[in-house]
Amino acid sequence: MTTPPPPGSTSPPAGGSGRLLALDRAHVWHPYGPMPGRSEPYLVESASGVRLKLADGRELVDGMSSWWAAIHGYRHPVLDEALIEQSRRMSHVMFGGLTHEPAIELAAELVELAPRAGGSASSGSASSGAPGLEHVFLCDSGSVSVEVAFKMALQAQRALGHPGRRRLATWRGGYHGDTFHPMSVCDPDGGMHSLWSGVLPAQVFVDAPPVEFDEAYAEKLVEMIARHSGEIAAVVVEPVVQGAGGMRFHDPRYLRVLREATEAYGILLIFDEIATGFGRTGKLFAAEHAGVVPDIMCVGKALTGGYLTLAAALCTTAVAEAISGGAGGGLMHGPTFMGNPLACAVARASLRLLRDGAWVDQVRLIGNGLRDGLEPLRGRPGVADVRVLGAMGVVQLDHDVDMHAATAAAVAEGVWLRPFRDLVYTMPPYVTGAEDVARIVAGVAAAATVG
Ligand code: PMP
Repeated sequence: MTTPPPPGSTSPPAGGSGRLLALDRAHVWHPYGPMPGRSEPYLVESASGVRLKLADGRELVDGMSSWWAAIHGYRHPVLDEALIEQSRRMSHVMFGGLTHEPAIELAAELVELAPRAGGSASSGSASSGAPGLEHVFLCDSGSVSVEVAFKMALQAQRALGHPGRRRLATWRGGYHGDTFHPMSVCDPDGGMHSLWSGVLPAQVFVDAPPVEFDEAYAEKLVEMIARHSGEIAAVVVEPVVQGAGGMRFHDPRYLRVLREATEAYGILLIFDEIATGFGRTGKLFAAEHAGVVPDIMCVGKALTGGYLTLAAALCTTAVAEAISGGAGGGLMHGPTFMGNPLACAVARASLRLLRDGAWVDQVRLIGNGLRDGLEPLRGRPGVADVRVLGAMGVVQLDHDVDMHAATAAAVAEGVWLRPFRDLVYTMPPYVTGAEDVARIVAGVAAAATVG
């Protein structure tokens, strides 16, 4: 094993890696950063199971599931085979005027798995015919699915005779993507609002939800909806877990409060399950913690097991009918790569793996391992909070993390993490075994106590 330069080093390693990293630095823009980046990214050569293999030969246990997506790990034989098999038939055809089996079957399977009144199919209490999310709009990425959800909500309200309902309401601390309308409902302090003030549409915000149920806060939610019912089309939230906005958890009963109040005022309820969907919180969808069915639900990230970019906005028949009836005539959206067959085929394979149910115990065991391993960090200097839910572990610091030093500390433990702000957190692939969970815990501890 060679010793690579530390992150931030300006001298690239010799040979092919050095050339690639030099080209990367010259031409490739990485997320949330300047061009060129302030530090050197780690060059990944391949990934298998829960391990990322770096070009310098090191192997890292992946604590990030590639931003919540790679729930079954890398190079999974079932997912690989689905992709190869589909590529032999067709990789892509346009979706306007054409359709195909991978998209049709995927949509039907999503409808079957999605939350529905009386329990979702995944909890074994499906009551077929109960109101659920019956219609699926496939699109390219999470942010685009949020855009589609907003378009659905605004179009539906307009069609129902409420053209004034054009704003969105949410609670603070959220994150819904990086395109403009999703940005407008991200946390106005922690998000990118200050950068874009005067550009983003002004939405309606209420305080971030407390962890525990608080009657006074619940009343605030209702009051917000009542006060703004003439101008908001929908309330949009991440159910149970606010992810990139701060990795905060809240009592699921708030979702019921939102459901009742939105229903009472004819406002639509959108759940962004892009991060929480497909088992991460211990339920297939976080909405199930509350037994609530939204009017519109966004999914993405883990939909394809992290293989390809694909997302979807699902909606009820009532929403679809409102948009489609009368003069409106349809939803004005249609991405070029809508329903991409490769992505749909691999998504179907991922859902098939989820349907075998092994994820339930895997997520529980990972959660137990994270809880046992991370709890001892509570009270350590610099540590403000430790929290675990489903297969997510979070160590919140009382200061902003030095991202590069913390990442390097985790890498030195053989673990891949991507801390941000005051958070060192992990959401491992569900197939992570106990020993690797213990290693991830060591990586989180090292990152959280660096410096
Ligand atoms: N909503 C939530 C809750 C997310 O976590 C993310 C991605 N971090 C998005 C939306 C945006 O998804 P994408 O990055 O695929 O556009």
